[in-house]
Amino acid sequence: RGLGVALVGLGGYATGQLAPALERTENCYLAGIVTGTPSKADSWVDQYHISSKNVYNYDNFDEISNNDEIDIVYVVLPNSMHAEFVIRAAQAGKHVICEKPMATKYEDCQRMIDACRKAEKKLSIGYRLHFEPHNLEAMRLGQRQVFGKVLESDAGFAFPLRDKSRWRLDKEMAGGGPLMDVGIYAIQSTIYTLGQLPIALQATDTTVDRAFYGAVEGTLDVKFDFPTGVNAKMRTSYEESSNYLKVQAQEGSWELAPAYSYGGLKGRTHLGAINFPAVNQQALQMDDFATCILKDKQSTVRGEMGQRDMFIIDKIYESAAAGKPVSLKGIPNILHLV
Ligand code: NAD
Repeated sequence: RGLGVALVGLGGYATGQLAPALERTENCYLAGIVTGTPSKADSWVDQYHISSKNVYNYDNFDEISNNDEIDIVYVVLPNSMHAEFVIRAAQAGKHVICEKPMATKYEDCQRMIDACRKAEKKLSIGYRLHFEPHNLEAMRLGQRQVFGKVLESDAGFAFPLRDKSRWRLDKEMAGGGPLMDVGIYAIQSTIYTLGQLPIALQATDTTVDRAFYGAVEGTLDVKFDFPTGVNAKMRTSYEESSNYLKVQAQEGSWELAPAYSYGGLKGRTHLGAINFPAVNQQALQMDDFATCILKDKQSTVRGEMGQRDMFIIDKIYESAAAGKPVSLKGIPNILHLV
């Protein structure tokens, strides 16, 4: 059955995606849960045949250190809780997967990385698209300059969200608005397609209904400067729908739309359709991490990658607030090269 995974936080993503994916993994399996809701614990124990000794709540979670059936703790809580639970998991001697965004503040990322390093445990970020074939193809086309140098890229991820009863519109818990939630995918696809780190950016808060969104942005537009002069932009929003990556290179172009969904991704180049079979992204992501642990290799999507993206996110908010471009000097130097 491989390594035992404990999911922390049994909300929408854990329930809808991660638990079902853990029924399709080969190198790891759902061994435990951490939840503040006893009724959820009962139904999960029944549905997934979880041993009752592998059920924890947020208070007794640290006792997981004594449980050798749990190898990996997967933190799927609201963003502001990631840092605390990643650090507690590392201190309990477990390898950790942390959902995106890694934290709500850049400074927290280093504490999370340090805690895992000190415990000699691996830290991975829930960047599922690094295991998705259409996105891997976009990386290959861009990074290997299959159609020449990239001239322009445009990425967008947005969905309408107006439910204030949930944490995603709460600045304290979410850390921000759509940028934290889905814009992070557009940042990522821009960087992994180009295989370069941006050197500066200019962000503009283009929220339409400011009165409603209040402390978090409703819509944001960002232009990046890259060392090779690529004209790169992205947009994220809770006020509209979008899900794409479009790239223009010297000798051709390609596009993914939808680019970032769990399934049903579609791609095309100027020559025709990009066709890949559907995969379970989360199963591949978790199996890859389990393999990295078993082979003692760095995670494919390691903590420093999440830290790099939090650096960029902080700079996007800084630029939007100041209304002027900001330098990305000091950006963590990490790239996923294919
Ligand atoms: P959700 O609101 O559906 O679930 C959050 C869970 O945290 C719930 O079970 C809730 O009970 C629990 N929780 C514990 N303390 C809480 C508190 N004080 N306030 C609110 N909830 C509390 O959220 P979700 O969509 O499952 O997102 C969880 C994390 O997963 C987020 O960081 C999100 O960005 C990430 N996520 C990633 C993907 C992906 O594709 N990688 C997709 C969805 C969500």
